[in-house]
Amino acid sequence: MAATELDQVVNLCKRRGFVYPSAEIYGGFRSSYDYGPLGSLMLRNVREAWIRTMVQERDDVVLIDAAILAPPQVFEASGHLANFSDPLVDCTKCKQRFREDHLTDPNVCPGCGATGSFTEARAFNLMFKTYAGPVEGAGAEVYMRPETAQGMFVNFLNVLQTSRKKPPFGIAQVGKSFRNEITPGNFIFRTREFEQMECEFFVPPAESAQWYDYWCKARLQWYIDLGIPAEMLKLRPHDDDELSHYSAGTSDIEFMYPWGWGELEGVAQRTNYDLTQHANHSGQKLDYFDQANNERYVPYVIEPAAGVNRAMAAFLLAAYDEDEVGGEARTILRLHPRLAPYKVAVLPLSKKETLTPLAQEIRRTLGARYMVEYDDTQSIGKRYRRQDEIGTPLCVTVDFDSLEDGAVTIRDRDTTEQVRVPIASLVDEVSTRLGF
Ligand code: ATP
Repeated sequence: MAATELDQVVNLCKRRGFVYPSAEIYGGFRSSYDYGPLGSLMLRNVREAWIRTMVQERDDVVLIDAAILAPPQVFEASGHLANFSDPLVDCTKCKQRFREDHLTDPNVCPGCGATGSFTEARAFNLMFKTYAGPVEGAGAEVYMRPETAQGMFVNFLNVLQTSRKKPPFGIAQVGKSFRNEITPGNFIFRTREFEQMECEFFVPPAESAQWYDYWCKARLQWYIDLGIPAEMLKLRPHDDDELSHYSAGTSDIEFMYPWGWGELEGVAQRTNYDLTQHANHSGQKLDYFDQANNERYVPYVIEPAAGVNRAMAAFLLAAYDEDEVGGEARTILRLHPRLAPYKVAVLPLSKKETLTPLAQEIRRTLGARYMVEYDDTQSIGKRYRRQDEIGTPLCVTVDFDSLEDGAVTIRDRDTTEQVRVPIASLVDEVSTRLGF
């Protein structure tokens, strides 16, 4: 299979209703995207797959949903007000602005080719600021969170006291974050408004190295289990000069994007930095008393931090394929069934009234368990192609024989194999094939 070009996926996303440019009727809003009927389902599936693995299938992680707006004190304590910035340079010739750390040659402008035309680098804070209440000005300033993580730290005590967990345990959250990125781009890879899936895993300090190792491996495996080929993924430990102000070690899980290796998720060893900072700034004791050993300590934190949109881009890029069926070219998204927007398509062979009631009944039965699409337009061949292109793992075709023999045809997206199945056992058959 040839490497997927970004344009192939961007076009498919637009054509089939996964992702649209934001505010398109007004000419678009740069590097912002809206998720259509299929894209919103897929985003939900990415979130749910993460919550399933990180929360549902284990007993040491709980989920929260914290506020997006936060007062400045939170970000003073976290260090974001002082440190969360990118170094910016302006080209004095073409007036374009660049991130200094993204330049291949710090002396050459990638915009116009001029040499030595850059201004001194200036720190540009990435947080969006706004005002709470009717009066703009000092005292009313609030920030839109640039990461979900601080919601877990400021709620550490609440969760500890109400959930009966003790270290090692984690607090997970999925939600929107906002960064005034200087160079957004590469489709949904880097946008100013995006969604994160983060877990702060609190551990006894002596166990932090072992848990860091555990989470690096576990998070890499999550992408493989959801269908990304292992050779398109790698774990890259950060060099010392790349580490964030709070980090004692970070590894990026990188994906082979069409433009090269890039970050998909970061796993950071945040030490006790955040809890200590919030304890100092708030005056609250943010620690844990270990009764068994009669000792009080501030837990260390391991943080796996992923992006919902960035993960969706990687899943789409890895799943995109073109092949031939019966001498005819087709585009196919080989998405894992858990990620596919629709799990099953119900396709009556004809629009004739005699078939509709049975086909609708099957749609209702399957629809109680799965996201199902019902499509009775065009030829059956075209409808199969459409479902292949949006990644639907199974098609169920209802034909005139179904009225007589009480059976339907199931078609598999990847093999295109078709088998006849009694309607009475259809739900079981679908469940076996999907794996859930
Ligand atoms: P990058 O170096 O690519 O800017 P980062 O190291 O700043 O990313 P983190 O702060 O570690 O990113 O955030 C964790 C995850 O959140 C990233 O791995 C990514 O999946 C996602 N993410 C961060 N910034 C963006 C963005 N602007 N658009 C989309 N996803 C993002």
